[in-house]
Amino acid sequence: MSTIKELQAQNEQLAVTVFAPRADEVDRQRRFPRENIQELGRAGLLGLLVPLDYGGAGGSLADMSQALEQLACACPSTAMVTLMHHCATAVLAAKGSDELKRKLLPPVARGEHLSTLAFSEAGSGGHFYAPVSQLSANGHFPILTAYKSFVTSAGEADSYIVSTRKMHAQGPTEVDLYALPKETQGMEVMGRFEGMGLAGNASAPMKLAGVAVRSEERLGDEGSGFETMLQVVLPHFQVGMGAVSLGIARGAFQAATAHVSARRYEHTGGSRLSEIPRVQFLVAEMALELRSARGYLREALRAMASSDPEAMLDVLGIKVKTSEAALAVASRAMTLGGGMAFGRRGGLERMFRDAQAASVMAPSSDLLKEFLGKASLGLPLF
Ligand SMILES: Cc1cc2nc3c(=O)[nH]c(=O)nc-3n(C[C@H](O)[C@H](O)[C@H](O)COP(=O)(O)OP(=O)(O)OC[C@H]3O[C@@H](n4cnc5c(N)ncnc54)[C@H](O)[C@@H]3O)c2cc1C
Repeated sequence: MSTIKELQAQNEQLAVTVFAPRADEVDRQRRFPRENIQELGRAGLLGLLVPLDYGGAGGSLADMSQALEQLACACPSTAMVTLMHHCATAVLAAKGSDELKRKLLPPVARGEHLSTLAFSEAGSGGHFYAPVSQLSANGHFPILTAYKSFVTSAGEADSYIVSTRKMHAQGPTEVDLYALPKETQGMEVMGRFEGMGLAGNASAPMKLAGVAVRSEERLGDEGSGFETMLQVVLPHFQVGMGAVSLGIARGAFQAATAHVSARRYEHTGGSRLSEIPRVQFLVAEMALELRSARGYLREALRAMASSDPEAMLDVLGIKVKTSEAALAVASRAMTLGGGMAFGRRGGLERMFRDAQAASVMAPSSDLLKEFLGKASLGLPLF
């Protein structure tokens, strides 16, 4: 069994030497990075958050953050697939019954099982915590009929954590979560979603038509899903998405600074682009965005680890700060990359498109700012 430190070293080695060179091909072919996921699995990295008792590495939020930032700097599509997998395994570990955990977590730890979240529905869009689908009664089992609008790793994952309103729910926050295996009858992928970025994450809508769900597959008590989303999914997703955005921003920063340092002009006797004050100014702005977003994420992780009463405020702000930093850095990187970047060489244009995804993914910055404003004013969030 590898230590967390050894796992992080393997993650970095895979990211830099194997995934980064493949990232443009994954993007252009719009293909799921199956071989990257298999290599992460073989290295034990899909089990990073799985508790030690189930054969995993027992890693923390900070460990997940470090690993995802490294992956996103190399191949953001691979990082997004891994992020949704970690969110799903965190819910399984926190809320699965003993039987479910014994069944699913050891294969996750061995790298043989990929999971994901299927929350978003067309009927509530970015308000991902409020499904409009609802369980209905039919004989022995509750029946689930739902249309999930975006699912990362759709058709590629081995299990899906699916949200729906519980049976007889009176409102959108009376939610159940179920872990459904890929073989579930009535569950199917509805075509492909052609996103402008993260082209390899196999995002697609999924339909669940008359699916019979069993109480053993439910995560937590009946109606507890909303609380689980807030207590377990939200922190993992916010930290993970923050790390992915930071990784993309770091990748764009590195590519842009390498370009301006290498680019020379013959008409001035070989001077470099990096010698121009305006270029240095843009690089400084990028460095400030990156450092301030990284500082924010670190402080949020510290607050969560020390049960700081302000931790929830920090959690709400992570995705806002980091996704805005990724957009700002990637946009300046495109400027500095000039014709090389516009000509889709050097990966900058891909990183620019990949950086847009975080701001679309729920909760969006505007919604998070609404929550953060309410929380800062002592008002209820919902
Ligand atoms: C690459 C990618 C991968 C994804 N993977 C998954 C996944 O694995 N699982 C999953 O469940 N979902 C996933 N999603 C879905 C995602 O999390 C969102 O649910 C989805 O993008 C919402 O899209 P929408 O067009 O329906 O948003 P809408 O709800 O229509 O929102 C459109 C705009 O309106 C704004 N808006 C809405 N309400 C408010 C408000 N109160 N105040 C201010 N502005 C508001 C939003 O901020 C947004 O900018 C993924 C999305 C993307 C892009």
